[in-house]
Amino acid sequence: MTTLAVHAGPATRHWRGAFAAAAPELAVVGWDEPAAAQAEYVAAWDPPDGFFARFARLRAVFALGAGVERLLGRDDLPAEVPLLRLLDAGMAAQMFEYALVGVLAWQRRMPEYASQQSRQRWQPLPARARSDVRVGVLGLGAIGSAVARSLAALDYRVSGWSRSPKTVAGCQALHGTDALCVVLAQTDVLVNLLPSTPYTRGLLDARRLRQLPVGAYVVNAARGDQLDAQALLALLESGHLSGALLDVFATEPLPADSPLWRHPRVTLTPHVAAVTQIDPAVAQILAGIAGIEAGRMPPGRVDRALGY
Ligand code: NAP
Repeated sequence: MTTLAVHAGPATRHWRGAFAAAAPELAVVGWDEPAAAQAEYVAAWDPPDGFFARFARLRAVFALGAGVERLLGRDDLPAEVPLLRLLDAGMAAQMFEYALVGVLAWQRRMPEYASQQSRQRWQPLPARARSDVRVGVLGLGAIGSAVARSLAALDYRVSGWSRSPKTVAGCQALHGTDALCVVLAQTDVLVNLLPSTPYTRGLLDARRLRQLPVGAYVVNAARGDQLDAQALLALLESGHLSGALLDVFATEPLPADSPLWRHPRVTLTPHVAAVTQIDPAVAQILAGIAGIEAGRMPPGRVDRALGY
């Protein structure tokens, strides 16, 4: 019988139960059970150091999330074992809602009205139509392309950026390093949905953030290591940027002494923009295992050289 070992921290029992209920033909075990050592497949999220050394028969590892930079950064996961990430699995719809919060905040001038409120100032500002709001989505993958498409369907003016050419309905899709400055220069609300890789870490530095038009707004829901928080704060102070909605940080939880906590034009959330949904994730991973057993590599295999 094929064995799947599960590690999902304190939620391991819950995940194990969901896998077992959906796949009675598999032996589903918790990572700390003796039978786990025989597992051909592992489904895991951020297991402890050395975790993968116990599996001698691994055929594939499934991440219980979309971002895999931590799994790629480990030295106990053999390079020849395929690593697969979740593709959407219910996260894209949540990410669209999160991005929309930021887009609406900018469109309806919420940071400016919050500032007025703090000064008891009553001053209507010019309205902005959706079709005049330029949204730039960085990353047009499983999540970014769905977010870009959904925003375009609401009549926002969306451009997107990816590594390779993409077509996204209703959007201007640009690709390659040279196109980033084009997207930034025509973006009122920047939505970062890039994976954290050697090429994207530190990408949104002072120089690139300054390429955004004066008054632009930044939504970072990808990874904190891609955005220079000091540069962001400096550009908020200078008035170049009007506000930011941040879900992810270089250090999580965000340290108590971070000025981001208290900045009046920063709204922050504790890495909750799009959480893994257990049922679609289980279904996707089980379909992946069935594919590999049948000799087909399923979509979502991580390219270690690209880092995502
Ligand atoms: P994905 O399917 O792997 O898509 C990644 C996208 O980024 C692709 O369009 C890819 O281009 C593009 N890209 C990668 N490297 C690039 C580069 N160097 N230059 C330009 N474009 C580049 O990833 P996803 O599933 O959409 O997820 C994206 C990220 O969101 C995850 O990696 C994770 O970090 C983050 N996330 C955050 C949360 C949260 O709650 N905050 C939840 C889920 C995911 P190609 O299309 O050409 O390959």
